[in-house]
Amino acid sequence: MTAYLVGAGPGDAGLMTARSLELIARADVILYDKLIPDGALAGARADAELVDVGKIGAGAQVPQETTNELLLRHARAGREVVRLKGGDPFVFGRGGEEAQLLRANALDFEIVPGVTAGVAAPAYAGIPVTQRGVSAAVAFVTGHEDPAKPDTLIDWPALAAFPGTLVFYMGVRSLERIASELVAGGRAAGEPVAVVQRGTFADQRTVSGTLADIAARASEAGVRAPAITVVGDVAALHEEIAWFAAGPLAGRSVAVTRARAQASPLAARLRALGATVVEAPAIRIEPIDATLPDLSGFDLLCVTSPNGARRLLECCRDARDLHGPPIAAIGPGTADALRERGVVADIVPERAVAESLVDALAERPLHRVLIARAERARETLPDALRARGAEVEIMALYRTVAEPLDERAREEALGADYLTFTSASAVGFFVESAGRDALRPDQRVVSIGPITSDALREHGLHPHIEATEHTPDGLVAALLAAAR
Ligand code: SAH
Repeated sequence: MTAYLVGAGPGDAGLMTARSLELIARADVILYDKLIPDGALAGARADAELVDVGKIGAGAQVPQETTNELLLRHARAGREVVRLKGGDPFVFGRGGEEAQLLRANALDFEIVPGVTAGVAAPAYAGIPVTQRGVSAAVAFVTGHEDPAKPDTLIDWPALAAFPGTLVFYMGVRSLERIASELVAGGRAAGEPVAVVQRGTFADQRTVSGTLADIAARASEAGVRAPAITVVGDVAALHEEIAWFAAGPLAGRSVAVTRARAQASPLAARLRALGATVVEAPAIRIEPIDATLPDLSGFDLLCVTSPNGARRLLECCRDARDLHGPPIAAIGPGTADALRERGVVADIVPERAVAESLVDALAERPLHRVLIARAERARETLPDALRARGAEVEIMALYRTVAEPLDERAREEALGADYLTFTSASAVGFFVESAGRDALRPDQRVVSIGPITSDALREHGLHPHIEATEHTPDGLVAALLAAAR
């Protein structure tokens, strides 16, 4: 067994190496940092232990000693442990120290280099860190060192004299010091500088200037970490070579209120479009133990939500248990959730509301129907089927319960440009938890469909945007159309 020190690249998941994905898929344990691509862990085994060693609470870092201890403990236990870091593990990533530690403890390890932010962020900003005739050398420098500290590791005069491009990691807050030290050391005040924030992410942005004005420009633009600062004539090539288009939602924040387990695909889609996503789950799905009845007595099985689809299959040995009656899904999202589990729905109305399903079933003779759904749901479908003389049985598979919003999630959600709701229950619990009057008048409320919109109105909120297709994709499409 081996420990792996793995680079996850700078942010764009497409820049992860084949080797890193292979190891993530195999790992027993993944100790990961904060700055890894969205969805980097999507391929991890369902039973893998995923440990966030990047953060504890508000801004605090897990101490390196704790990470070391975890790394040793798991490696010693003979588990495949992946230590996943942003960018490259050996570039300002403390990978060297962790390798020393493993070696000192006679544990095997492998190093998997990653695409480092100091090269990738400039590249995505159209800045080659070397360029024939312009810059024949590049230095990677940590901007962490406070130039004012007497024991600083950085030899500023030597750095100023370096014949080539300087790439600073970290240090957005000390930009002014960095620039003045370099000018004091002999660099021209007019030398081009570019700061690339969140390079290779869909909301990447670049602020350009010179040593003389970059600090002011960056602070005016509100540049924040993570950012790479490129000093040198190559920085001016940004003008000419810039190619990466920020996503259409760049600069906008979107709050997602759905249950944590389901929030991530929606959040990922929004992030890919450049949005800053705030996850503020107002609800949680609580499974209810249920046994699948003998299906031979039913002439229809209705599944009324993607959660219902997931839970239904959890109550089965496998998809073959659902053999028998035709299966109706309430809409495309539920049909997709079934298909992912090997079940193709026979009836799928285009609009994911009970009324449409009732219409779609109008021609069918029905005697006994099983509805797999949440404990509490609208009675439209069972009522309509009963009115037609069918015997309806409800299989309650889960209930939606309130998830208390923590103060930070609440504040961030209320500060977001868009507040999205994908169910009526999320509306109720969110309003309860956040307080209706807390919403800003300019905040746009986005609803997945008419039922959710009704719930919003009941709670005194106005759905500014309503999806035409009542799926997360439909919601994203509606939000995009409105944001244009
Ligand atoms: N090992 C990483 C660097 C870790 S140090 C690598 O090889 O890239 C953390 C610093 O890296 C941040 O403060 C920032 O300066 C830089 N950084 C990491 N990801 C970045 C990104 N996507 N865009 C800009 N800078 C980034």
